[in-house]
Amino acid sequence: MTRIVLASSNPGKLAEFNHLLADSGLNVVPQSAYDVDDVEETGLTFVENALLKARHASRISGLPALADDSGLCVEYLRGAPGLYSARYSGVHGDNAANNAKLLQEISHVPIEQRGAFFICVLVLLRHADDPAPLVAEGRWHGRVLTEQRGVHGFGYDPLFLPDGEAASAAELPPGLKNRISHRGRALAELRQRLAEPHV
Ligand code: IMP
Repeated sequence: MTRIVLASSNPGKLAEFNHLLADSGLNVVPQSAYDVDDVEETGLTFVENALLKARHASRISGLPALADDSGLCVEYLRGAPGLYSARYSGVHGDNAANNAKLLQEISHVPIEQRGAFFICVLVLLRHADDPAPLVAEGRWHGRVLTEQRGVHGFGYDPLFLPDGEAASAAELPPGLKNRISHRGRALAELRQRLAEPHV
């Protein structure tokens, strides 16, 4: 088993990554086990921020590092909330306020112009100076509903109607959401890349 550090201290993410990467021979440990603090996310794109987080965790821990960055991009809003998805309303992690702000920003926009996608970028650095990181990406397309539906999931799930589904992301059974979501797709791509020779 190769030990890699996860550039996050979120216990839910740690369990999900360990579960999905177990057969890749990876043991994912939280960055808190190596006293890695949170790095300032100064990038202008998801991939830049994932790289910053992975490099910081790898430099301090001396281990390979995995980082993810994700968010919701609304086409009418030119990609907002985007990088600022977690703190769109101004308060980090206030899902209710973030959803209320999103509803308000596009209240006048008809459903056919409410296209959006969730994106998840995963970066795996073998060491802090690795010039060729593994980068995997998943996107999940749909549209923003005019009112919240469902109780599962987190974040913007109650406002997101995935393409091809009659249920919002918060109405889907969590196991199904995890398989078809942006995060599920990015993880599947990472697993595939890890299974290739010479990675
Ligand atoms: P992070 O990359 O885990 O920090 O997520 C950034 C933010 O994007 C979250 O706080 C949510 O607001 C939003 N987000 C990312 N993935 C999802 C999802 O699967 N459902 C709902 N919101 C999400």
